[in-house]
Formats: sequence, C-alpha cells, structure tokens
Amino acid sequence: MSKKSVAIIGGGVAGIAAALPLADAGFDVTLYEKRPLLGGRASSYIDPHTGERLDECQHGTMRCCVYLADLLEKLGVHDQIDYHDVLAFLDSAGNYSEIKGCGLPAPLHTSLSFLAFKSLGLRDKIGIAYAMIAMLRAGKRPEHHQETIAAWFQRHGQTPRAIQRFWRPILISACNEELERTACAYAFKIFVEGFLCHPRAFHFGVPKVPLGSLYTEPTLAYLEKRGSGAFTRAIVDSVEVEGNRIASITLQNGAVVTADYYVSALQFDLLLKILPASVTEGVSYFENLKKMELSPLAGIHLWFDRPIECPPALALLDRETEWIFNKTKTWSLPQGAGTYLSMVISASHRFAKTPKEELLRIVLADVRAALPTAREANVVRSQVVRWPKGTLVPAPGVDALRPSQRSPLSNLFVAGEWTDTGWPSTMESAARSGYRAAEYVLEAAGAARSLAVAELPVTGLARWLLRR
Ligand SMILES: Cc1cc2nc3c(=O)[nH]c(=O)nc-3n(C[C@H](O)[C@H](O)[C@H](O)COP(=O)(O)OP(=O)(O)OC[C@H]3O[C@@H](n4cnc5c(N)ncnc54)[C@H](O)[C@@H]3O)c2cc1C
Repeated sequence: MSKKSVAIIGGGVAGIAAALPLADAGFDVTLYEKRPLLGGRASSYIDPHTGERLDECQHGTMRCCVYLADLLEKLGVHDQIDYHDVLAFLDSAGNYSEIKGCGLPAPLHTSLSFLAFKSLGLRDKIGIAYAMIAMLRAGKRPEHHQETIAAWFQRHGQTPRAIQRFWRPILISACNEELERTACAYAFKIFVEGFLCHPRAFHFGVPKVPLGSLYTEPTLAYLEKRGSGAFTRAIVDSVEVEGNRIASITLQNGAVVTADYYVSALQFDLLLKILPASVTEGVSYFENLKKMELSPLAGIHLWFDRPIECPPALALLDRETEWIFNKTKTWSLPQGAGTYLSMVISASHRFAKTPKEELLRIVLADVRAALPTAREANVVRSQVVRWPKGTLVPAPGVDALRPSQRSPLSNLFVAGEWTDTGWPSTMESAARSGYRAAEYVLEAAGAARSLAVAELPVTGLARWLLRR
C-alpha cells in the first residue's frame, strides 16, 4: 500500500511538531518553510556581514513545558538547553535576589528564597502567598477566561509593589501582555503549573546554541531518515479548495503540490491570506481568527568590547528592559574578547514608534545601570529586532476564539501556538498544537493513536491544595 502524504505549511515549532510524529508513523511528509532556517519565530537570522546565526530574540523555556521537551528530545537536541535552577532578579535600587529551590515539598520549594527576596516587603510577600494559595484552590472555571488578572489581583489585595516587582515581571515574560489584557486562566496556568505544583517546574531553560541550529539541521535529518523532507525558502502562495477539501497548494515558484492531508502551521492572519475568501467568509471557525490580536516584542542585541559581569539570565525590575541574557555565557563564546548581551522587552506596544536609536539608548542605559562593568564598556555592534505581530494576546474571551486543530475542511488540520491548547502563546503551545494536529491526521487516516506526553506530576502539599 502506498504511503499517505502530508504537506505541512510552515516550519516553526508547530510545523516541526506536526511533521515528526507523522514521519514516524510512516507518512510521506513534506514541510514547506518560507525562510532559510527552520524554527519560525523561535529562530535565527543569518548575519549578512559575518555569516553567523543570530537569534532574532532570545527564547527561554521551563521544565513544565513537557511537549517542547519531548520534541527537542526527538530531535536529539534537548541537551542543548541549559536548565537553570536559579532565577535572578535585580531591582533599580541594586537589590539582587534569587528564586531557587530549597528542598521543601511543593508548593513551598522556593519559599525560603522568596522570604529572602530583597525587592519585596513583608506585606507584599504575605499578599503574594495568599494569592498563590488562592490560585491553587481556584480550579478551572469559565469565569477565569472572562476576568483580567489585573482585576483579580485587585480583588485579592495585592500591593502595587507586589504587582510591579513580582507578578508583572513573571507574567509579562510568559504571556507577552500587560496584566490588564491577560485573562486569569493564563496567569493561573503559569503560576500553578510553572511554580507551584512541582519543585523543578520553574527551572528556566536557555538554549546553548542559536535557535536556528536547534531546529533546522536536526529536523531535516530526522525527516530525511524517515523518507520525508523539508524545503526551506519555499513560500506557499495559495490553497485551492474543491468542495470541502483542499485539492492542492501552489508555491510562489509556480509549483503545484497535492497531498492526502495538509497541515497549516502558519500564524492565523497568514492562514486567512492563503485560503480563498469563499472558504473563510461567514464560517465561524475562520471568522473567529479575525477577532484575535497580536502583541509585539522587541529583541535588542548589544556587543561590548570587553568582559562584563552578568549572570546567564537576569530579570530587571522597575526598568523598561525586562531581561538581560548573557549570550557569551549561554553560548559559551570565547571569553575575554568582549561580551554579547541580548535584551528583551515584552509587550512592547509603547515602543512601537520609537526610533531604533532611541530604543538602543534606553536599553543601553538600563544595562549600564544594572551592570557596573558595562558602564565603561563600548558598544561595538548593535541590532534591534522588532516583532509587531509577536504573540497572541491572551485577553479575556480569547479562549473561545482559539480554534481546534481540526478545521472545517476535511483534509486540512491547523497547528500554531494560537490554536486551542490552553497555553499562552509560547513554544510549548506550538509544540502541543503540532502534536494535536498530527493526532487528527492519524485519526483521519484510520491510524488513530495518542501522542500525549506526560505532564509533570503534582507533588507534595500541592496535591492537597490543588482543586481540580
Ligand atoms: C520576539 C519573540 C520572543 C519570544 N520569546 C519566547 C520565549 O522566550 N519562550 C517561548 O516559549 N515563546 C516565545 N515566543 C513565542 C514563540 O516564539 C511562538 O509562540 C512559537 O515559536 C510559535 O510557533 P509556531 O510554529 O506556531 O509559529 P511560527 O513560529 O510563526 O511559524 C510559522 C512558520 O511559517 C512560515 N511561513 C509563513 N508564511 C509562510 C508561507 N506562505 N509559506 C511557507 N511558510 C510560511 C514562517 O516563516 C514560520 O517559520 C516569542 C515570540 C517572539 C516573537
């Protein structure tokens, strides 16, 4: 019997996550990616001057991101993620604090470091502890998709300092949106699954290599070994639909491709662009996509002429810049020659129109204020990468808009971090969506099987507190 074929449009994390299990299951998979490297938003560009692979924006993961971990394991590159068991914070007064494990059972496993957290006072900490227990006890309810976490914090007596120096820095990094535009359900997920249920869930994973290298060659090799393949610099221009099925897709170079099944792993606005309007108009599945919004991010890269003291990852409190990543450390670049720092500004709406030079000035001022050894150092190279359409806004009501990975077209399946995964717009969500889309393809082909990955178990006292 001939192999069933699958064409996957988009080689980001979601497209790769759909491709791998289908290739494993014996499908003839072909992945089409517009750019030269795989990984999508979580990828690298090739510097035209040096030929180096540089990440457009630093990406991190956590131990609770088990689907992404499974995907990286399949690709043989999970060991290229360095998981840090210490989260480092520095406030504008120069107070350095760490969140780290202490051997107590969950959810108390970071409690000693939290008690010692210098940027917060006792009243802030008591309020935070109370809110954490309330989150654990909250369970999963429809109203958590209607209220913003900002309103919930108000109702739960959180101090302005607790919000400014604890809740916002963590949530804006994970959800890429302000608390006033983030639904409680997503905030609860981050804290309950990321910080409270398992002592290792909060460990922060940072790639040791460029993102493009994490995803590109390992995916190409994986697919090739299984008789499948991927084309980079391959742009899908349009999708031809006959009745309730996709008949073919057409690439920008004019090639027409047919397959038994199709997986779109594009962002939702791009999916709407390649589908005929006659297919999408008036169909709630597609109409809902038009109501979803995207939130911007900015990645600022600075190369200094000398060594700079900085942990691998440092969260800045009270500043415009949220994170400093020391790429010289995380990528193990030659020490002594200089230092490469990569900064992130999440939910960067306020800088949408700020000129590049001004943004560089703001970020450099933050870096120099935070890191004494950067004050005398000269910037020898810089790069600003802005993503106006960075990630899905996790606003109240968005959950009802996020679509299933099974589309109304019988042979089209949809992956993408914005589809219905319950997760904020992250690589983890993308990986989950890809596995789910692959499950639907397997089911459609009469070869149904589960691709579920075991979640981290709920341990310790969290088991008693968690209301399911
Ligand atoms: C600046 C930034 C920082 C982030 N930081 C983090 C982080 O620290 N941790 C985290 O977990 N998540 C982070 N995210 C979110 C994460 O990157 C995304 O949620 C995830 O990578 C989305 O994956 P995806 O495969 O669903 O979509 P995408 O990555 O967008 O993949 C879609 C792919 O389709 C390709 N494509 C588009 N049009 C076509 C076409 N016509 N034909 C063929 N191919 C096409 C694109 O080039 C792309 O490769 C960040 C996002 C941004 C923008």
